[in-house]
Amino acid sequence: MKKLVVGNWKMHGSRAFNAELIQGLLAADLATTAPGADVAVCPPFVFLADVAASLQGSAIAVGSQDLSVQAQGAYTGEVSGPMVRELGATYAIVGHSERRSYHQESDQLVADKAKAALAHGLIPIVCVGETLAEREADQTEAVVARQLQAVIDTLGEQLTRIVVAYEPVWAIGTGKTASPEQAQAVHAFLRAQLKAALPAAASVPLLYGGSVKPDNAAQLFSQTDIDGGLIGGAALKASDFAAIARAA
Ligand code: PEP
Repeated sequence: MKKLVVGNWKMHGSRAFNAELIQGLLAADLATTAPGADVAVCPPFVFLADVAASLQGSAIAVGSQDLSVQAQGAYTGEVSGPMVRELGATYAIVGHSERRSYHQESDQLVADKAKAALAHGLIPIVCVGETLAEREADQTEAVVARQLQAVIDTLGEQLTRIVVAYEPVWAIGTGKTASPEQAQAVHAFLRAQLKAALPAAASVPLLYGGSVKPDNAAQLFSQTDIDGGLIGGAALKASDFAAIARAA
């Protein structure tokens, strides 16, 4: 199975910055140089249309970093699934730890967002992960299980259509990566939970995210249950992101 490598640009970029980044990504010719990876980038909402247009016909898909549970209506500031789909998005990240912590997104809201993404033809990339305090309190499995269970209970048979990203909060943007063994252990745990809920969901792609860089990507991606990566900081540099895709 191909790996999936997704770049999360977070709230970075400008038209000029994006143009240069995309030029670098297109020059890397990932279809030829990274044949083992499906690749996508998730720019801020306001740049989605531009980025999707620039990448049209390339091997790089586009996703949003969030979406509303609503499709349309009086929800000031929100952006819906049908809107991002119309702009060319294939994926929608939901439940990123920055949204869970800065915007108080609950497990149920994240699950509802995953359901909304599917309803509008988007593949949700559902993020789960523990904080450092939770890891140190030996709560890693309990936390990711609780986060994933809300999605399992909400999606039912549709569970097979999602992507899950395990992103330990303590490894995001900190330069601290989970060791391949630590990441593999949580991925195996999540795989077992998915399979127990619905046998066909054992094949849901499981991405690792948290300070993935060109020099640690290959080792992480070689783990049995790591099917790719969700990449933050390194996705903002074309040569690093391309190197990570090639490692897949
Ligand atoms: C992320 O925010 O999804 C992420 C993994 O960030 P970084 O790669 O910068 O740790």
